[in-house]
Amino acid sequence: MTSSPIWHPFTQHGLAEPIPLVERGDGAVLYTVDGRRIIDAISSWWVTTHGHCHPRIMAAICEQATKLDQLIFAGWTHEPAEDLARGLRAIMPVDLTRVFFTDSGSTSVEVALKMALGYWANRGESRQRIVVMDHSYHGDTIGAMSVGARGVFNAAYAPLLFDVGRVPFPDAGAEQATLDALERECAGGAAAFIVEPLVLGAGGMKIYAPDVLSEMRAICARHGTLFIADEVMTGWGRTGTLLACDQAGVVPDLLCLSKGLTGGAMPLAVTMATEAIWDAHYSTDRAQTFFHSSSYTANPLACAAANANLAIWRDEPVQQRIDTLAAQQGEHLAGLAKLSGVSNARQCGTIIALEAGGDDAAYLSDVGPRLLARFREADMLLRPLGNTVYVMPPYSITEADLANVHAVIASAVEDIATP
Ligand SMILES: *Cc1c(COP(=O)(O)O)cnc(C)c1O
Repeated sequence: MTSSPIWHPFTQHGLAEPIPLVERGDGAVLYTVDGRRIIDAISSWWVTTHGHCHPRIMAAICEQATKLDQLIFAGWTHEPAEDLARGLRAIMPVDLTRVFFTDSGSTSVEVALKMALGYWANRGESRQRIVVMDHSYHGDTIGAMSVGARGVFNAAYAPLLFDVGRVPFPDAGAEQATLDALERECAGGAAAFIVEPLVLGAGGMKIYAPDVLSEMRAICARHGTLFIADEVMTGWGRTGTLLACDQAGVVPDLLCLSKGLTGGAMPLAVTMATEAIWDAHYSTDRAQTFFHSSSYTANPLACAAANANLAIWRDEPVQQRIDTLAAQQGEHLAGLAKLSGVSNARQCGTIIALEAGGDDAAYLSDVGPRLLARFREADMLLRPLGNTVYVMPPYSITEADLANVHAVIASAVEDIATP
């Protein structure tokens, strides 16, 4: 038995991989208790947008902590939540008039799915089928797993998962197959289509074009199928714009936001909905209530952090930082793309990704872990998805640190993944 009683997420403790003890974070850098300086090149799993411990977010949490820590949110409200809901309405698409709070990306997805089915049920129409895209990831709760890709990650739990319709990922040149499959599902009376706009994150940083996104949205609209945009990862500037949907002129019926909502400082999520979805639940009939809550819904400290995030977007040159980071990422990627061990080099906004190694599956199976070990030795927080290496840093990463990340990737790929 190891000394810590902690059972870590997505961690095979039997492999006895080292688990660094981190004491402090500042910008894109983490400091361990044993004095190592680690570059956080994946924003602590895609959440940290402005850098660790942004002073304004930390101050907002401290200030709120002197006033109100937690409040039942069923039938009660508080200023930080009211401010945040108004703030979100002001910057998100105007058709998304209603804000429902939860505490993680997964639960924001569960809420969107329940709102979609509640919408049809309250209207007395029997539309229940959910349509999803291959390789999607929407979270690890039962409903979120049901609408995500099936595989080793959830095979044991298959008996708990519900059936969904699936459309293929729109690979370049094969987009029509995706659109045709979606058309068939929607024409068959699908209740809702859930999708990650522009980038499928955990499914391997798979990127598709904005015009495919807008065509998928149009197909759903034609058939009344509700369009759920899961922007839990893509939101808050990751793809170069505030929302990935913005690049396609798409306004969803339901929008899931989490990760960057608080700048990555506190667990919080929202599901935003159109007035039509709200109206379907608005009644004097208690049976049409939206039956969902969790204890920490709209936690005041988390809302205060999110309000500080909105203020940072308002007052600081966030878009300029994103544009600069995207340009630097692009330059480094062009260098990596020239290596013989690299294929499918790609970029969407601040995210770059590539496949390391050749097509030999047996060989590939240990490329990921070997790369991971090398990155760890080099004090880089990078976490390849299989043999997919990606870089998704906080927008505040310095030019020198970013160059260092890419230099380490280049040498690791040359040593470990060159066929
Ligand atoms: C991370 C993620 C989720 C799940 O969010 P959690 O906060 O980890 O529950 C859902 N959807 C997408 C697209 C994500 O990247």
